[in-house]
Amino acid sequence: MWKTREIQNFVLSIIFPQFCLQCGKETNMTNLCPDCFATIEILEYWFCPVCGKRLADKGVCNNCVSKTNLIGIFSASPYIDPLVKKIIGYLKYEPYLKDLSKTLADLIITHFSLLNNDNVNRILQNSILVPVPSTKDRIRIRNFNQAEEIAKELSTMLNIPLANNVLFKIKPTPTQVGLPLWQRKQNIKNAFAANSENLRKTKSKKILLVDDVFTTGATMEECAKTLKRAGVREIWAITAAREF
Ligand SMILES: [Zn+2]
Ligand SMILES: [Zn+2]
Repeated sequence: MWKTREIQNFVLSIIFPQFCLQCGKETNMTNLCPDCFATIEILEYWFCPVCGKRLADKGVCNNCVSKTNLIGIFSASPYIDPLVKKIIGYLKYEPYLKDLSKTLADLIITHFSLLNNDNVNRILQNSILVPVPSTKDRIRIRNFNQAEEIAKELSTMLNIPLANNVLFKIKPTPTQVGLPLWQRKQNIKNAFAANSENLRKTKSKKILLVDDVFTTGATMEECAKTLKRAGVREIWAITAAREF
């Protein structure tokens, strides 16, 4: 049986055929053909969110436990992969191809399947997905928050609830591109606020923070710190790509 969404996509693909952003072949609604998707490197390991050390198992390396509010991070692909960069660029900047959030969610799911499944399943259990928030100004330009779009796709694929009303960005920040870590940290300090009442309603003590790219970790850390102060015990990060 076809799901409503598949029927919608099928009808739309007849009216508005989609072309692969990489090779130009006609493809489905996600703007990337399966052949080009298969060329993307998907990471088979964990890494420390603080020092970047490759880890065989989950979490943070022993030296960095006291330096982070995260229990660990999942990052599907290296951002240095030109196609990954292209996908994220087309989603975040013009032409704002919103469907590419599904491609990024597919990368994350494939990454999960390449890791130790028992560990991953245990981490995903009883969790909720929380997108890294964007300010209203940014959302107005793009019409959507890319982190939330990726989180929505993951929520559907993994059957994990999504909460977009527990963490908010309360201070606009200048673009972080090209800035050193200390400056990023300073810019993002106190930029987020948690809604304790909505958090209580979710009844979850475990949050999976979702974003498109993990660069220096300054944004993720600030989000995690804010949620921890609001009483969340376990905070994980999930991103489609990692830069360092
Ligand atoms: Zn292609
Ligand atoms: Zn480390």
